[in-house]
Amino acid sequence: MNATTLHPFEDSQPTVLLIDDSVDVHRLLKARLRYEDLKLAGASNGKEGLEQARTASPAIVLLDLDMPDMDGFEVLRRLKDDPATLDIPVIVLSGLQSAQDKVTAFDLGAVDYITKPFNLTELRVRVRSALRLHRLVQMLAQRAQIDGLTGLWNRAHFNKRWTDEVSACTRHHRPLSLALIDLDHFKTINDTYGHPAGDAVLQGLSRVLQRECRQEDVGCRYGGEEFTLIMPDTTPTDAAGVCERILAALASISWPRHPERAVTASIGLAGPDVTADLSADQWLDEADRALYAAKQSGRNRVVTRLIGQVTPMAKAG
Ligand SMILES: [Mg+2]
Repeated sequence: MNATTLHPFEDSQPTVLLIDDSVDVHRLLKARLRYEDLKLAGASNGKEGLEQARTASPAIVLLDLDMPDMDGFEVLRRLKDDPATLDIPVIVLSGLQSAQDKVTAFDLGAVDYITKPFNLTELRVRVRSALRLHRLVQMLAQRAQIDGLTGLWNRAHFNKRWTDEVSACTRHHRPLSLALIDLDHFKTINDTYGHPAGDAVLQGLSRVLQRECRQEDVGCRYGGEEFTLIMPDTTPTDAAGVCERILAALASISWPRHPERAVTASIGLAGPDVTADLSADQWLDEADRALYAAKQSGRNRVVTRLIGQVTPMAKAG
């Protein structure tokens, strides 16, 4: 498990979506972009183009301005109005030579403008340039979700990822487990040995998480000394095994700044024993209760709550 290898947006071969009503333009681009490292998707009108922009996750859109029914300006406006398509760089294609059209297209959020008939070398260069921009945007989006100190995903990523995993596992009736991990008496490490020692402990636990987890597990720094671990396709019993390994690995670390002081953590684990109809928030609350129980009963342990034990009546609205 590693945030940088778990990049959910990474494209090995980016898709370029061409929205144009001209069959000739589709044929031409297909021939001319054949040797570029990309997939070409096509739509022949604005409505279909908007649908494809949502479903095909294109890296860039090439958009004709002059189309019947919905013109390119309207398509562009709608692409930029929709959070799902807002970040896709759009290159406008047009036979119109008017400076006002170019200004309007840029104002609406186009990143580039190519006038028909194309100079094909120029077209290729501009497509490559837009793809570079797309990669940068992806990289920044990813960086914004990584915790700087530990290199794990941060809370913003967790919130989104957890909701996605809960709905996916509910839909496909797959097991899923969530662990909340909290370092024991962390404040006294900071107070006794200083904040650099505390930071080293946070990084140490993160390394343990990365080492002990499976590729598909998602470790996040939830905040302060609290971490979360999402374990897809994992029953609570198997998840408890992973958590016990984490605690054992953590307890065996010798800390250079305080060799006399071992570090432990408490873990609250929640997962369904049957398919439970529970929201992501309620599930998180269950893990939090399990963590509280682990702290109350002496720390340095895993406490598991089976969500099948929760009745629907207990759910908040
Ligand atoms: Mg046209």
